[in-house]
Amino acid sequence: MTTFKTTPEKADFDHIRDWVFDLDNTLYPHHVNLFDQIDKNMTAYVSELLQLSPADARTLQKQYYREHGTTLQGLMIHHGIDPQDFLEKAHAIDYSPLLPDPTLGEAIKALPGRKFIFTNGSVKHAEAAARALGIREHFDDIFDIVAADYVPKPAGSTYDKFASLNRVDTRRAAMFEDLPRNLAVPKALGMRTVLLVPQNLEHTFTEAWERHGDADDHIDYVTENLAEFLSRLLR
Ligand SMILES: [Mg+2]
Repeated sequence: MTTFKTTPEKADFDHIRDWVFDLDNTLYPHHVNLFDQIDKNMTAYVSELLQLSPADARTLQKQYYREHGTTLQGLMIHHGIDPQDFLEKAHAIDYSPLLPDPTLGEAIKALPGRKFIFTNGSVKHAEAAARALGIREHFDDIFDIVAADYVPKPAGSTYDKFASLNRVDTRRAAMFEDLPRNLAVPKALGMRTVLLVPQNLEHTFTEAWERHGDADDHIDYVTENLAEFLSRLLR
């Protein structure tokens, strides 16, 4: 049973006052591969910290990611690392693959209400990426992993912290994310949920969905193009 939609229906968003966006692979498309650079930096960090081969470092990095939501959280718990140092090194990347996206900027600007970036990365990274996209000025605030006390999405406490800090009424908020698991809590909190999928994968995702039935019923919408989705919503 397919329950998500791909074309935004105005009636589903009329009540929305706060628009909440994940950063990586959401505000910019997956194919930009910016996250690849961060991913490699994290592998290098783990390799240097624990004197592991790149292959072993990568295995451990992914294990921490699976078990703790972020590599950072795993490294903090198991190795007591300095999170600021990690974030600096992980986000020391080249932002030039990110190009200004005026269509996205216009759409975000035109959305009625407040707009937030809610990321498991750092404010510095979010600022740099949003500036490169030319959309920074359209956001009211950025809630990052430091604001979350290093407890990443999808922990429920982190969404609560975000909502209470910004006085967000979750029943009148929408969340945009590329990771399905990060939309479960938002849906439970009454948020409208939109999943970003890589280009040309909308169809694949639909088929997978149909195979797995309603396993992901916390997703209201699926789209591969955020700018187009928002533009259609505003039409
Ligand atoms: Mg993301």
